[in-house]
Amino acid sequence: MLEPTYQADVVVVGAGIAGLSAARRLTSAGVTTLVLEAAHEVGGRMATEKVDGFRLDRIGPLLSTAYPELRLTPGLGGLVLHSFAPGVLLHSDGRHHRAGVQAGARGTRGALHAVRALASAPRAGAAPRRPAAVPGRQVSVPRNRTGAPLGTAVDQARLGAAFSRLAGTPVERLLARPEVTAAEALTARGLPGRTVDGFLRPLLAALLCDPDLTTSSRCADLALRAFARGRLCVPEGGTESLPELLLRALPPGTVHTGVRVTSVSTTSVTTAEHGEFRCRAVLIATGARAAAELLPGLRVPDFRPVTVVHHTTDTPPATGASLLLDADRGGPVAHTAAVSRVDPSRAPAGRTLVTSTVLGAPPDQVDTAVRMHLARLYGTSTARWETLAVHHTAEAVPAMRPPHDPRRPVRLLAGLYVCGDHRDTGVVQGALHSAHRAATAILADLGAGRPMHTADPLSTARAA
Ligand SMILES: Cc1cc2nc3c(=O)[nH]c(=O)nc-3n(C[C@H](O)[C@H](O)[C@H](O)COP(=O)(O)OP(=O)(O)OC[C@H]3O[C@@H](n4cnc5c(N)ncnc54)[C@H](O)[C@@H]3O)c2cc1C
Repeated sequence: MLEPTYQADVVVVGAGIAGLSAARRLTSAGVTTLVLEAAHEVGGRMATEKVDGFRLDRIGPLLSTAYPELRLTPGLGGLVLHSFAPGVLLHSDGRHHRAGVQAGARGTRGALHAVRALASAPRAGAAPRRPAAVPGRQVSVPRNRTGAPLGTAVDQARLGAAFSRLAGTPVERLLARPEVTAAEALTARGLPGRTVDGFLRPLLAALLCDPDLTTSSRCADLALRAFARGRLCVPEGGTESLPELLLRALPPGTVHTGVRVTSVSTTSVTTAEHGEFRCRAVLIATGARAAAELLPGLRVPDFRPVTVVHHTTDTPPATGASLLLDADRGGPVAHTAAVSRVDPSRAPAGRTLVTSTVLGAPPDQVDTAVRMHLARLYGTSTARWETLAVHHTAEAVPAMRPPHDPRRPVRLLAGLYVCGDHRDTGVVQGALHSAHRAATAILADLGAGRPMHTADPLSTARAA
C-alpha cells in the first residue's frame, strides 16, 4: 500500500514513455519523484502482448533512427533498434519498387538517393515480366499501362534533390514555413503527380498515421526529414522495451501502478485508491483526453484510429526485411512487413510474424479484408496464414491538423506541468521531446539540484 501522506518533490501522473522519461530526468537531477499509473502495467500505448512465443505490439511499428530523443533520453542507452531494409518497398500494379534509399553506405546518414525502382518478380497474372534490376544499382524506371509509381529518371533526380535539401534543413526553419495540410503542400511543391501519389502519399500516410494527409505540412516535413536522415526501425523485443528500459533506470519504488489520479493542484494530487499526495509540482503525462479531464479547458484534439493486425506463416514472404507500402490504395492495409525478419526476437524459430497497419476506420470483417489485400501485396496466398491478434485503438494518435503547434507549452503554472505526444508531435519522438521540455521547466522552477525532500522513496512507499 502507498502511504497517503507520502510526499515527493514531483508527482508524475501516467507511466507512458513521456511520464517515465520525465521521471528519469527528474530523479537523476536529485528531485524525488513519484509516478502514479492507473493501469496495472507501465508503458501506456507502447504495450507488447506475448502470445505463444510471439511479441505483438499494439502500436504501429515505425520508429526512426533519426529521432533525436531516442539518443538524448537518459535510460534509453541500452535500446536496440533493428532497421528495415533501406528505403521502402512500394507495391503498384502487381510489382514492387524500392524507393527512398539513402546515398552512401547502408544505414548511414546522408542525402537521400534518387529513388530507385527495383523490379521484383511479378506474380502470376500481373503485368508482363520486365528485365530484373540489379539490387543496389540505379535502373531506369519501368513504364507500364498505368505508369510506374516513381516517375522518370528526371522525376527521381528532382525528388532525391528535394529530400537532400530537407535532410539538411534545420528543424526551426521547417517550423517557420507556411503551414497548410500535407496534401496541399505536396501538390504545391511542383513535384510530379506520379511521384506524389506513387511514393510520397503512401509514405507520409504511414509516417503520420493519416491516410487523407490532413496533417500539418510542418509535421509532414519533420516526418520526411527524419526519413531522409535515418532509417525506419523497430525496437528489439517490441515497443514495450522502451518503457521497460526507462522503468529499470528509475530508483526502485518510484512507479506505482493501479493508482488512478482523480484531481490535481499545484501542490497535490488526489487518487481514487490512496487519497491525497502532497508535492511541490505535478506533471500530467497522460494522453490528451485524460489530461483534459484532470485540467478542464485543456485542448483535446481529434484522434486518428489505427488497427494493427498480426499474422503468422511458416513461409516467409519474399520481401525480406522491407517495409511494404501500397501505392495503389487497393485495400485497407497502409503498410505491412514481415517484422520478425527485421527483429527475429518477435517470433519463435521457424515462424514469421507479419504485422500490418490499417489507418482510419477499419472495414467490417477487417481480418478477411486485410488477408485478401495482403495476398495481393505479397503476391502469395494468405489462406493458411494464422491470425494472432487484431488490435484496434480508436484514439491512437492525436491528429495534427494545421495550425498545429509542435511546441505546445508544457508549463501551465508554476507547479503544474503537462507533457505527452499531444503537446508536441503525435509520435514517440514527440512524447519524449515534450517530456524533455517539461522536466527542464520543472527543474528550472524547483531550482535544479536543490531537492526539497531527501527521503528515499523506497523507505516510504512500496509498489502497489
Ligand atoms: C495503434 C498505434 C500506432 C502508433 N504508431 C506509431 C508509430 O508507428 N510510430 C510512432 O512513433 N508512434 C506511434 N504511435 C504513437 C505512440 O505510441 C505515442 O505517441 C506514445 O506512446 C505516447 O506516449 P505518452 O507517454 O505520451 O502517452 P501514453 O502512452 O498514452 O501514456 C499515458 C499513460 O497515462 C496513464 N493515465 C491516464 N489517465 C491516468 C490517470 N487519471 N491516473 C494515472 N494514470 C493515468 C495511462 O494509463 C497511460 O499509461 C502509435 C500509437 C498507437 C496507439
